[in-house]
Amino acid sequence: MTVPGTAGSVGGSLSGAGSPAPTLRHGPEGGGDTSPAPRNEGPQLSFQGMWKELAPIGRHPGSGGYRRYAWTAADGDCRVWFRAQAEARGLGYEVDRNGNQWAWLGDPLGDDAVVTGSHLDSVPDGGAFDGPLGVVSSFAAFDELRRRGAEFTRPFAITNFGDEEGARFGLACVGSRLAAGQLTVEKAHQLRDGDGITLPQAMEAAGYDPETIGPDPERLARIGAFVELHVEQGRSLDLTGDPVGIASAIWPHGRWRFDFRGEANHAGTTRLVDRRDPMLTYAETVLAARREAQLTGALATFGKIAVEPNGVNAIPSLVRGWLDSRAADQDTLDAVVAGIERAAREHAERAGIDLDVVRESFTPVVEFQHALRDELGKILTGRGGDDAGRAVPVLGTGAGHDAGILSASVPTAMLFVRNPTGISHSPAEHAAEDDCVAGVIALADVLEGLACS
Ligand SMILES: [Zn+2]
Repeated sequence: MTVPGTAGSVGGSLSGAGSPAPTLRHGPEGGGDTSPAPRNEGPQLSFQGMWKELAPIGRHPGSGGYRRYAWTAADGDCRVWFRAQAEARGLGYEVDRNGNQWAWLGDPLGDDAVVTGSHLDSVPDGGAFDGPLGVVSSFAAFDELRRRGAEFTRPFAITNFGDEEGARFGLACVGSRLAAGQLTVEKAHQLRDGDGITLPQAMEAAGYDPETIGPDPERLARIGAFVELHVEQGRSLDLTGDPVGIASAIWPHGRWRFDFRGEANHAGTTRLVDRRDPMLTYAETVLAARREAQLTGALATFGKIAVEPNGVNAIPSLVRGWLDSRAADQDTLDAVVAGIERAAREHAERAGIDLDVVRESFTPVVEFQHALRDELGKILTGRGGDDAGRAVPVLGTGAGHDAGILSASVPTAMLFVRNPTGISHSPAEHAAEDDCVAGVIALADVLEGLACS
């Protein structure tokens, strides 16, 4: 695990107990040159300070959105920031074999660690909150626990998982997938960005060693609980009026390709009754998808379409539409997709259109561990203050996360922070500062309950 010439020693230790100082791998972010005063401000100041530091990194001046793609300069700047935060708090800094960053308090080789974190990369023109809110809240929650004088009885770490969004190489959660063995090294080596640069080349150019990538089961086996805080990507909490919620599950979801084939012809000379126009059948199918989704409480979206010959004065020969559908459970998802396909076939038959439906991808439901989820619920419900005794909402999500990948190997839970518009993956993504601070306090309470005596 040691890279010659870049090794350092872990700085953090569990309070009240001496811990060994194992040698850790470091990335190319530099370090050792930051020594800010310990952050003992309240959670709001702690949050505000970090938020301000991260805000300009990778922000596009035109769109106002973030372009923090994996292994680019903007991603590198985020990584330098992460390392500085770790070192400023005396935490042991480490890069794992897949380029994920870790900040350890206590022994990184100890068992039953409590880990929190998220990601710092973004989608094209992404918002400020998706990912960074979890990482910043993790450091702010740690500051809050120090302020409270909490004594850690389990190893503790904050992480930044690499390439969560998959914006550059087209596959989401590469860092956690590699660690969990859900992406083979061979497939990872084949990933290419839009310029033909492979993942190993990109890692190398960013100063990381691509030779080491691969499953990391020993590391994951030492984690007793992983908690990821994330901005909600929907409006459930806005509707319930709660600043913070707990995730129940990541919905099963998939993508289906619908090929509608008709007959190309002249838009100016072909009588309506003589046409075999696949666009009409496609349009009926889009309406059917909306109806089926409404009936079942699922989500169904045709967001991408390809048309042949794609001429403004031509009746199309082919309309290819991609359906993205998600639902709270497998049966509902099966039912909604079957309903859409049935409607599409009925309309196609009536109009003399040929139809092929192909499932292109599918991800089954991810249920977060019930014991950990219930423990979070108990901790957050049992708190004092204005919300004493108020149950915290438990909600599902249609979006994927590192926590979902890790949940196959590690007891995993998620906290969501209210997003008043529900908008995400957009510069308009937003959470109120008071809600962010409520998230920090909730995360601190959870971490205290899990990791402190
Ligand atoms: Zn995210």
